[in-house]
This record gives sequence, structure tokens and C-alpha cells, in this order.
Amino acid sequence: MATPYDIRLFGDPVLRKVAKDVVNIDGKLRKLCGRMFETMYAEPGIGLAAPQVGVQRRFFVYDLDDEPNAMVNPVIEESSGEWLHEEGCLSIPGLMWDVVRPKEIYITGYDLDGNDVAIEADELLARLFQHEIDHLNGVLLLDRLDDDTRKEALKTLREDFLDREEAPPQQQSVGGLSLP
Ligand SMILES: [Zn+2]
Repeated sequence: MATPYDIRLFGDPVLRKVAKDVVNIDGKLRKLCGRMFETMYAEPGIGLAAPQVGVQRRFFVYDLDDEPNAMVNPVIEESSGEWLHEEGCLSIPGLMWDVVRPKEIYITGYDLDGNDVAIEADELLARLFQHEIDHLNGVLLLDRLDDDTRKEALKTLREDFLDREEAPPQQQSVGGLSLP
């Protein structure tokens, strides 16, 4: 079944842009999120950020426990602890890495009705939020890997691209990134 969107893959410049705040939380945004849910469930995935479908705005959809949710203009207010866990990305299909991230975070933002939302999250939910907010900042999972692992990952990705006879991703799009 065709999904409403093709998920943008590693190498697509839109994944490296810093997204802008959502200004209006309206029917248009809700409709867009509906299409993003369809795309996410079809993969299947547990989170999808707007830049991954080519929209440069700060929101993402997620569903960890059969409860579809969206977060608009999210901000990480606090984070603490450390947690090593395997993590993948729909924009880098088929690859997973162990990544250390803060274990608990406190985030604020808005839901699709424009209500204030504040969530204390830990472990998988905290990781999901951090991953999606990274996307809003043009940061990819690869940037969270140590140098050796990232080099290995880029080699694998280049070989995958060559196998598919497509242009290899540009290495320059990965280096020199300032993390939030
Ligand atoms: Zn991702």
C-alpha cells in the first residue's frame, strides 16, 4: 500500500536543516500529522519528525503504546542520567547502533489542539523525544556515534548507495555539526 509520504533518506539535505517553529496549530497541521501517522505506521516506526517528510517545521508524531500523539515546538527543559540503548532511524533504514543519551528528560511543547504539554519521560520515551528533536535541529543518529563507529557507518552507507547505483551521500554533510 502506498503511504502519503516517502520518508526522506540519509543524504537528503532537508534532514540537515534546522526546522522553524510552528506558528499556527490548525486543521492543516492536524491533517499533515494524520498523513505522517499513516507513513509512520506503514514502516513501521514509533516516531516521525516533520523534516523526515520534507516539512521544515518543529513538530513530530509518535506512538509508543498504541496511543498516537504529536508534539509541537518541543523544548527539552531538563535532562539527566545516561542510558545506553540500541537505536535506529527510518531515514537510515536497516542499521542500528548502541547510543548513549540522557535517561530522563523533561520536555514542554504543545499538542495538536494548542494546549500546553509538559512530559517527564524516561528510557525509551525519553530517547524517542531526543531522537525526534535532533531531527528538528538537523542532527542525525550518526552524529551521536563515536568517531570510529561513525566512520564505519558511513562506509556501510556508501557501499549501500553504490549497490543501488545511486549517488553516494556526501561526507561533508556530517562533519562539523554543533549539537544542541
Ligand atoms: Zn530518525
